[in-house]
Order: sequence, then structure tokens, then C-alpha cells
Amino acid sequence: PWSAALTQEGDPSIAARLQREVTPSNIRDNLRELTARPHIAGKEMDLGVARLLRDRWLEYGLDSARLVPYDVLLAYPSREPDRPSRVSLLEPDGTVVVESQQQEAGVDDPEAEPPFNAYSASGEVQGELVYVNFARAEDFQTLVRDLRVDVTGKICIARYGEIFRGDKVKQASQYGCAGLILYSDPEQCVADGMAVWPDGWMMPSTGVQRGTVKLTGDVLTPFYPANEYAYRLRVEDAGLPTIPVHPISYGVAVEILRNMAGAEAPVDWQGGLDITYHLGPGYAGQGSSRTVRLVVNQDREVRTTYNVIGTIRGAVEPDRYVIVGNHHDAWVYGSVDPSSGTAVILELARAMGKLKREGWRPRRTVVFGSWGAEEEGLIGSVEFVEDYIKSLQERTVAYLNCDSAASGNFSLSVAASPLLHNMIRDATKKVPDPHEPSKTLYDTWRTKRPEEEGNPDSRPKINKLGSGSDYAPFFQHAGIAASSMSSDIDPAIGLGGYPLYHSAYETFDLQDRFIDPDWTVHQAVGRLWGQMAVTLADALVLPLDVRDYATAVQQMMDELRQEHGSRLSAQNIGLEHLESAVSNFTRATTTFHQTLESVDKSNPVAVRAVNDRLMKLEGAFIDPLGLPDRPWFRHVAFAPSNVNTYAGQSFPGLADALFDIDRAADQAARWEVVRKQLAVTTFTVQSAANTLVNNL
Ligand code: GLU
Ligand code: CA
Ligand code: ZN
Ligand code: ZN
Repeated sequence: PWSAALTQEGDPSIAARLQREVTPSNIRDNLRELTARPHIAGKEMDLGVARLLRDRWLEYGLDSARLVPYDVLLAYPSREPDRPSRVSLLEPDGTVVVESQQQEAGVDDPEAEPPFNAYSASGEVQGELVYVNFARAEDFQTLVRDLRVDVTGKICIARYGEIFRGDKVKQASQYGCAGLILYSDPEQCVADGMAVWPDGWMMPSTGVQRGTVKLTGDVLTPFYPANEYAYRLRVEDAGLPTIPVHPISYGVAVEILRNMAGAEAPVDWQGGLDITYHLGPGYAGQGSSRTVRLVVNQDREVRTTYNVIGTIRGAVEPDRYVIVGNHHDAWVYGSVDPSSGTAVILELARAMGKLKREGWRPRRTVVFGSWGAEEEGLIGSVEFVEDYIKSLQERTVAYLNCDSAASGNFSLSVAASPLLHNMIRDATKKVPDPHEPSKTLYDTWRTKRPEEEGNPDSRPKINKLGSGSDYAPFFQHAGIAASSMSSDIDPAIGLGGYPLYHSAYETFDLQDRFIDPDWTVHQAVGRLWGQMAVTLADALVLPLDVRDYATAVQQMMDELRQEHGSRLSAQNIGLEHLESAVSNFTRATTTFHQTLESVDKSNPVAVRAVNDRLMKLEGAFIDPLGLPDRPWFRHVAFAPSNVNTYAGQSFPGLADALFDIDRAADQAARWEVVRKQLAVTTFTVQSAANTLVNNL
């Protein structure tokens, strides 16, 4: 009785045709165009790049493509020429011994903003310097509790790396630092014996990492879209950083760190500069009366940033969305971050447009998203998710993010909701490896990044989602299954990430000469992205696997018990209810998976019913009230770590309350939060189980 189209399996040859269509030379041309001019959010080229994307998507034959603007608070270096932001080492009479530069050497482009940390407080502080290593929570604990160095009122200097820079500022502020200087230490950005830019891809002594230091979304409009009728907080009430922060190069940092007074910094705090790092405060010997001055002048303005939304309408289930997304704004040229991803998403749209013209239409709607103002704190994607949250939560199958498609040519790196693990593994088995085309991406990925080190048969490691790019609003706020992928650098090189990250040296040449000269790494990522999108958009029964969610939740339970079990039982807090919820969830996933395998595929209502349960499972982990002290983050199973926004934290409500609880000042209050969060977590896991099997 049903129309045949309703119960038709997707055509498996479509993904293969799509893969053949994705061409290295097109991606190269795209990247050249995208990196021609700086395109920071809110300025002329934010709109320029957004229009380029929209026009191309229409030209490629997408059914729709439009700009979706939001008016959001953005930060820029002040344009007053006599008050540049800078870090200076001063003699007592004011003579400048050394001062940070306004632009990186060799960069002569009036459109390139000088290095800055967006949303720093403006102001001037002068005084003694203290070295705080990476400015992590544990670094301040060591410094203040164990090494008894007083940081209150001091100017702190921290190296970049290990954690999100905004968390460094949060820690420095909590510990009472008067200001924070961030610098790129050679240990994190220059590998031994490898050449620096422009002779190689290591960071030269003049390079500076830019970057935001505030948290997620437009700070003036939390929870609601920053549109024309939005209610806006006053900037003073927006919770922005209250201390000045500024980034410098290691060429300047070495002069400022040299001859510091105080104890030698611990061995693992010694960085890669050719000096002995001391903690301070202040300087020793001849220059002992020198001080450091930190001046920051930034303008904060409500300006328009542009998202671009394109669609290919689904033939059978147009009200089901598979979203692929990436941001388009860059600190300067952004040849890695984000334009390698943007160059690929353009090619993907072209390839899908071509298939469509040849007669294909996906079963479900494919949505392309190109976000603005990600670099300032995921602003474009957060505002879009806040704006369309009701539809997105009801209709989105998955959000597939790819920010920096190629920051290196070592191997694939993936983070994802457990629901997507199986689909991702399967998709990588269908894409040839860019270096060894006789192997699949899956083969090289699992060898280079095994889940179990040392096991030659290991599956590849898929990380937990934290934050740091545009999947966060979809996953953490809206409860939509999401993934993030890139090809990145060999961890054995021993650096934190790719060395030229967020510097003005992220140029077209960096990709063309060093990272991906034949552009096949970009091609492979594009093919994988397309393979994933088409699989999700075309499959009759959604390829989401609930059993991987059960495995993940069981592992999280084990970790919780191992880490905190005895501490909890000393407080008479038992884990048995949570354990029982976890085993109910596991049982529900097994039962559900059996139902799924025996679903009557000729019955579109039955198929839609199992698909809806799959699609909605992620959302069952959302607590409407959100996590303690950060209500916007609502996923009870995963959140960005409170001490490192980039990292994923499992059972965050519990983990946050238990963090360092033995030494917490407010222990009794913290244990109350633990008790409450244990109940919330138990309820949520049980609820997720109920959505799979319980019909009330
Ligand atoms: N991707 C940007 C960065 O790492 C923004 C991350 C965020 O605000 O979470 O600087
Ligand atoms: Ca908002
Ligand atoms: Zn990015
Ligand atoms: Zn970035």
C-alpha cells in the first residue's frame, strides 16, 4: 500500500560517486581564494566570505542558500594609534628594555589585526612578574600551596598549551593576578631540528598566537538569539574577563623571562627557551629594579556576523536534517583554521550539487552551515542553535563538524558522540588513505591512533567531545549527536598542536608547501565528510548504534567508581542507583538494537518510529536546568571540562563537584551538590533508557 519511495534503501553507489567527485585541485583553488585577505569576524570580509559561500552554493545547485546574520558583541584591538596593546620590560626610569611588536615579522597587510586576546579587559598594569607554567588549575595549586609564591597583584606569565587559554585567564583571575601575559614556548611550537617559518612549519621567534579568552556564545544574549528584538545584558554584567591579557612571541618572552628572581621553576615547568626559568616575583641581579608593564586597549562593539545556511531538500523526509558545518571567520588568513575546512565544505557542496543535477536527491535534508565569529567563542553557531533550537532538537539526525580539515598530514583525529562511532568507523573503511591509497583511512587511523596501545587489532580511538569548535552548541546545549574531525600532526613530534596556530603565518603557502602539497589529505577529509553525510541522509534505517552509548556509559561508571568510590562511601553516598540505571540503559540498548534489526522495512511508520528513537536518544541526556554554575551546558553525560574547555568530561555535574573536594574550602556545600548531581545523573541515564524501551 505504501509508495515505493518511502521504503527504499539508499543507493550505495551515491557515496562512491560523491567521493570520486571530490578533487584536490578544486580544494586548492578554494583555499587560495578564501585566504586571499584576512577575514576576522564582524569586519568587511566576514560578509565577503559569507557572500562567496552563499553565491557558490546557489551556483552549485543547492535548493537554498542564505545569510543568517546576528548582532553580537565582538572585540578588536583599539584603533587609537598612540595606545597600542603591548608588553614592555622597563628600567626604573621608564626606559624600555624590550617591547612586544605590533605585527609579526614579514606581515605587511593593513587588514591584518595585530595579535590580541579577544575580550581581555582594557587597562594598564605594571609590577612584578611571576611565571605560572601553563596557568592550569594544578599549576596555580603547586605555585600557591606548595611553592608558596604569592601571585596576588602580580603580572603572571604563562605559556600557551595544554588547556584552552580562556581557562588560564579564569584561573589567573581567581588567584588574584593583576594581568596575564601569554606566550608560545618553543617546547610547544618548535620541534627539535625542524625549520621555522618561512623555511618550515615551526613557529618563528616573532610568531604570536591570537585567540579569545571568554566563554561560549554572544555574552550579551545568553540562551536567546542575538537578533533585532533581543534583550541585551549590559557589558558590565556579561561576565567578561576583568584582567588585561595579551599574547607575545617567544622572541620577546625570552627577554622578559631571563634573570627572573625567586626559586628555580620545577623541572617540568622549564620550557624550551635557552634560560633557566625562575618563578619570580621580579628580577634578580643587576636588573632587579626592572618591572613589567602590560597595556591592553580593545574596543568592544556590537557588530553583525554572518552565518551561511544552505540546504538540499530531502525527497522522503525533508523534515529530518543532517547538518555539516564549519566556521568561516579567521584571526588572519586562516589557511588551516578554519579555511582548510571551508575549502573542503565548498567542494563537498559542489559535488553534492552535481549529484543532485544528475538526478539524486537525498532521503533526508542535507544542511550546510558556515558559521561566523567562531574564533571569538563559537558565537555564530551558538546564536543559530539558540535561534532555531525547537526545530533543530525535533528534527536533527546529527551535526558533523569539520573545523581545521588539515592541520597536519599524520592521521585522522575524531571526537564524537558514542551514537556516531560505528557510522564513522564504517565510513572510514570506505575512504582510501591519502598517502597509501591501497589502504583505507580506517587502516591507517587505527594503526596511528589505536584505542588500545600495543594491540595491532585495536579499533581507532574516538575521543569524547568537549568544546573548542561549533559542534558544542549542537551537542552540549541542544542534545544533538555530533562529531568533529580533522587530519592533524604526529603527537610523537611532542608539540601541543600545529605550531603556527592562530598566527598570521597561517597562509596558503603553509598548506601548499608543507602540510598538504598534493592536497590529497584535504581530499580524504572531504570524501569522509561526504561519505558520512550521505550515509546519514540516505539510509532507510539510521546508522546510529545505541550499543556504543551503553559501552561508553559503562566505562564512565567504572571511571567514576575507581576515582571517587571510596571518597563517596566515606560520605555514605552509594552508587547503586546510578549503577542500576546504567545497567538498565545497557539492557535497553540491547533490546532496542534487536528491535531495530528486525524492524519491518516495508512499513514506513515502523521505520520512522525506530529512527525517531535513535535520533532522540542524545536529547534524552539533556537536563533542562543545565549543569551547576553553567546552566547553558546541559548534557549530563558529557561537557567541556571545567578546567579545560577543549577536553571532554564525563558525568560533568558529578566530576565538577568532586574536583579537588578534599581540599575545597566549601566542602559541606560541595557534598550537597554531589548528592543532588548523583540523583540528576541517575534520573537522566534512566530516562535515556526509558526512551528506548518504555511505552509508559
Ligand atoms: N576555537 C576557538 C579557540 O580555540 C574558540 C573556542 C571556544 O571559544 O570555545 O580559540
Ligand atoms: Ca545568544
Ligand atoms: Zn576553528
Ligand atoms: Zn581557531
